[in-house]
Amino acid sequence: MTSDFLSACSAIVGSDFVLTKESEQYPYLTDWRQRYLGKALAVLLPQSTEEVARLVQLCALHQIACVPQGGNTGLVLGSIPDQSGNAVVISLKRMNRVLAVDVSNNTMTVEVGCLLADVQTAAAAQDRLFPLSLASEGSCTIGGNLSTNAGGTAVLRYGNTRELCLGLEVVTAQGEVWNGLRGLRKDNTGYDLRDLFIGAEGTLGIITAAVLKLFPQPRAQITAFAALDNADAALDLLRLCQHALGPTLTAFELISDFSLQLVLKHFPQLQHPFVGNYHYYALLEISDHESETHAIALMEQVLEQAINDGHAVNAVCATSISQSHSLWKLRESISEAQAREGKNIKHDISIPVSQIPQFIYVTDAELAIAFPGCQIVCFGHMGDGNLHYNVSAPAGSSDADFILQQPAINRIVHDQVHQFKGSISAEHGLGMLKRDEIKLYKSELEMAMMRAIKTALDPQNLMNPGKVL
Ligand code: FAD
Repeated sequence: MTSDFLSACSAIVGSDFVLTKESEQYPYLTDWRQRYLGKALAVLLPQSTEEVARLVQLCALHQIACVPQGGNTGLVLGSIPDQSGNAVVISLKRMNRVLAVDVSNNTMTVEVGCLLADVQTAAAAQDRLFPLSLASEGSCTIGGNLSTNAGGTAVLRYGNTRELCLGLEVVTAQGEVWNGLRGLRKDNTGYDLRDLFIGAEGTLGIITAAVLKLFPQPRAQITAFAALDNADAALDLLRLCQHALGPTLTAFELISDFSLQLVLKHFPQLQHPFVGNYHYYALLEISDHESETHAIALMEQVLEQAINDGHAVNAVCATSISQSHSLWKLRESISEAQAREGKNIKHDISIPVSQIPQFIYVTDAELAIAFPGCQIVCFGHMGDGNLHYNVSAPAGSSDADFILQQPAINRIVHDQVHQFKGSISAEHGLGMLKRDEIKLYKSELEMAMMRAIKTALDPQNLMNPGKVL
């Protein structure tokens, strides 16, 4: 029975692209942080939409679950199978062609296995910008970005992946191909199926191609680092920047001093932007359509006003691309620095921007009482209200013991998020990791509507079962 199924898979994609050996399958079965190892009947690597459709039809016939996978950089255990060994992984990474660029319509049609970095490069070759930007952009795929509705550093100006997509092609759970590859900015013709599949984490169907929005390339991007006395000052600075810069402001990242110190400890080649330490820092980026000189003048003017108004206590503005990269490197290295330091308990949360300082004060204080000495690595996309609020063990104590406190720590952090009317998953999704946690915070009605959609589109529950719901 299994061998019949595998032979039929080989007949569709070729035997080289049906991986059954443990050693070949390994990278597809474990997550980015190597916390979990799933099992699969096979890893299948189709090269066309037709092949995906035929594989899904075959799976439906044999009642075999499918786990779609892109770059496998997801952080919530969504892209790997469970340990039953009954599912197949369908990796889309061989479907990596740019199909068309319509410069006048400012759109690009791509297969979903394209790496995000390659899409950015293809857009730049046409003097256009595809603004989605994540630290994993060299490994993650457009299909994964769409399926997780990825965020990243440019959401403040351009929105999440959902806002960057106009049309989709999807292989349904029955193995039919829905061609919704429309390049329209206006289309009010009933339920928005595109938006259902975006952010569905592969639980409703397999996205095979997409029409993406492009934007004019800015003439200059300038980065600055501001030192702040406290989290309230970050909110004041953000408000000032938004007022003074409008859509020119493309990133506003918050970095706590503890986060910066971890980076400097584990990446000694990187330089502290200031001589002394401050409680918080903000990394700002502006994208200017006039010139570099104009951009620098604009940034310097805002920073000067921020210092005069008491929102920032110090600031540096990068005047070259390499200086700009060095400042971004400080922000992008936080996750890796944390990993080198040891294990920690991560939270990817969002809060209304106006509530962020209060959330930080209240939650820091509650954790300090419950877990004296615990260390908080707080950083993230403050401009869109998204914090990575990670908690690690008190200095000198065992990580392994501390990790056992995860349920209690999650409860404190997520209950506060809920109190502040926030979300326990801002940009990474739910996957297997937060599937049970979400039930504590979404209403039964909302969960029931989600289950009804799942049952309508995937009545056999074969598309990435056990994820999200
Ligand atoms: P995968 O991990 O392969 O899959 C993710 C989910 O999408 C899974 O549920 C999978 O089943 C589903 N899926 C994949 N392809 C398809 C498809 N074609 N059709 C249907 N379902 C599919 N995320 C952010 O949002 N913002 C960040 O700033 C960010 N920074 C990161 C930094 C690092 C260093 C790392 C490791 C990750 C980061 N992430 C971030 C998380 C991750 O990179 C994103 O979620 C990314 O969008 C996942 O893309 P992927 O191709 O790796 O998808």
